[in-house]
Amino acid sequence: MLEARKAPDAAKAAAEFVAQAGRDVAFQLEACVHCGQCAEACHFHLVTREPHHTPVYKLRPMLKAYRRSRAPFAGIQRLLGLAPREPGAAELTAWSELLYDSCNLCGRCTLVCPMGIDIAGLVRRAREGMAAAGFAPEDLYKASGHALDTGSPIGVRWPALRRQIELQEKETGLRIPVDVEGADYLVILSSIEVIAFPEVIGALARIFRQADVSWTIPSAGFEATNIGVQIGSRDIAAALLERVVDAAERLKVKYVISPECGHAYSALRWEGPNLLGRPLPFKVVQITELLDQLVREGRLRLRGKDARRLAFHDPCQLVRRGGLTEEPGRLMDAVSENTVRTPAQGAANFCCGGGGGVSAIHRAERLRFAAFELKKRQVEQAGAEALVTACANCRNVLEEAIDERGMTLPVLGLTELVAQYLEPEAAKS
Ligand code: SF4
Ligand code: SF4
Repeated sequence: MLEARKAPDAAKAAAEFVAQAGRDVAFQLEACVHCGQCAEACHFHLVTREPHHTPVYKLRPMLKAYRRSRAPFAGIQRLLGLAPREPGAAELTAWSELLYDSCNLCGRCTLVCPMGIDIAGLVRRAREGMAAAGFAPEDLYKASGHALDTGSPIGVRWPALRRQIELQEKETGLRIPVDVEGADYLVILSSIEVIAFPEVIGALARIFRQADVSWTIPSAGFEATNIGVQIGSRDIAAALLERVVDAAERLKVKYVISPECGHAYSALRWEGPNLLGRPLPFKVVQITELLDQLVREGRLRLRGKDARRLAFHDPCQLVRRGGLTEEPGRLMDAVSENTVRTPAQGAANFCCGGGGGVSAIHRAERLRFAAFELKKRQVEQAGAEALVTACANCRNVLEEAIDERGMTLPVLGLTELVAQYLEPEAAKS
């Protein structure tokens, strides 16, 4: 288990790159025709115009290790001295910035690659080698340690969540169910929601009260985020996932609700069964999916709409990578009478700049603020008066960047926005 930063070991990284280079990876690494389209898709490359920010270039150490050890005729090439040299410690230290700070695993490059190369997926796999060999950013090792010790990458434990639940109970006048065995839905939360946006807990209580949803929050295993997926450690990812699975099995729920957190959804729904080594013993439903379903079934009754020009920021892991392309738009239409579209909205949206663990990497701050310039231009072009999103990490990152640019643009959570327009009499106890 990767628990703390190891002394950097380039040979170990190369060995892990080669181990990751199964048939599918080898096929993808060999398929690049150097067309450069991925460069024009990546927000980091678009703002810096630095050649090293070209997405496929970020995979170079992995490609070198593969060509040296596993590619066809690698043995002969090594004998003839024609094989590339293994990536050394200095090269990997330099590539840490490329594989972590300047990649959100957002998949915009994957979307445009004419050869179907999943560059974001390959970066995710290259990170396995980097993390195992001590080349991941220190901040991510620290966050991984916190997550393994406390369950949360920022050290949020149950007493902190319990206090927020109690405050939301006072605020809403509703009882918030904790550890209710046999509930239908298990609500897990990201630490950012607990600390920065606890109102979402009250919003869920009001929504589920009106829709008559049977739900509960677990006192153990409540953390939705999975730092293992971000640093690139299957072992950590699996250990953290097992805590959620334990909570779901202990409380015998049918569904686990993935909250407003993009990568939590990927980690649970798409990587979950592979990490666990068996099918998940529950269905995963993203909160946006569930809210959309409840509105369409008539179980949520809404009244009134927000009159501001609202633009939706599509979280990459929910929309482009997660396939929730329709649900946020329908919910926006249900609560907003003036939704505006930013250029390239939906599956082609630009990342907030903080996904894939980047928001936790202090040294990456300047670069992610620079990348926000593209989003800023889009928001201004659309004339948006507020942004709405369905990921607490996006929300936090956007708020920071907006503040850094001296803008005044509120960023709202979609769940809270929906709760705001519930029929008032139905929302009361
Ligand atoms: S996944 Fe996103 S951030 Fe990473 S290289 Fe591709 S476009 Fe750039
Ligand atoms: S878009 Fe695909 S084929 Fe073109 S340079 Fe990037 S990885 Fe290679």
